Amino acid sequence: MEKIRVTIYNEFHHEKIHESVRKVYPDGIHAAICSALEQDGRFETKVAVFEMPEHGLSQEVLDNTDVLFWWAHCLHEPILDEVVERIHKRVLEGMGLVVLHSGHASKIFRKLMGTGCKVKWRESDDLERIWVVKPSHPIASGLPEYFELPKEETYGEHFDIPDPDDVVFASWFSGGELFRSGCCFERGNGKIFYFRPGHETHPTFYDENVRKVLVNAALWAAAPGGVYQTYGHWLKDNYSK
Ligand code: ZN
Repeated sequence: MEKIRVTIYNEFHHEKIHESVRKVYPDGIHAAICSALEQDGRFETKVAVFEMPEHGLSQEVLDNTDVLFWWAHCLHEPILDEVVERIHKRVLEGMGLVVLHSGHASKIFRKLMGTGCKVKWRESDDLERIWVVKPSHPIASGLPEYFELPKEETYGEHFDIPDPDDVVFASWFSGGELFRSGCCFERGNGKIFYFRPGHETHPTFYDENVRKVLVNAALWAAAPGGVYQTYGHWLKDNYSK
């Protein structure tokens, strides 16, 4: 069976300047995400980081990507607009997009959502309990009713997004906040999944349940293999060809 081609974009900035982050992710957050997918065996992975020419996201790379993962925090605004346009077009054509944690504020996510995508946040090492609220959804496959991350950054509602097509996970924090932490959207031919956990100072991407979510999300967001539809001028004769 052909492998699903996943490109993992990580801005790869915190890891270089903060010892506290390097301690948790010595090879970068992308390496932890990559290992979760590689361990599964159904994916072929590639890494892109901010410093690469075109942020590692050339047209050729995107044309050969079934699902793009996105982790970013500090370097949202410096992302080249032409790269954002390119990703946007590919999503409408059917490329999947999995946006992680602070990626909610990225240019590409905001463009696809059409809203501010703002949240409340606090770094106080709260416990996060992630409830599965849509057990029939493929992204919830193999997960328990809920799982916990002992320490995470807190995000709180209201999360300024359009109503998702599906909410798969909802988080409760020991400080009292609630958050829609696993949200599905469709734009054009493409599927988008937003997943909340993944603050850079916490070992979230080593958690077995989180890794299962990453795998499930990549499988769900991958293009179904259908034909990219014809848009625009259409001749009836085409039916008989
Ligand atoms: Zn964070």
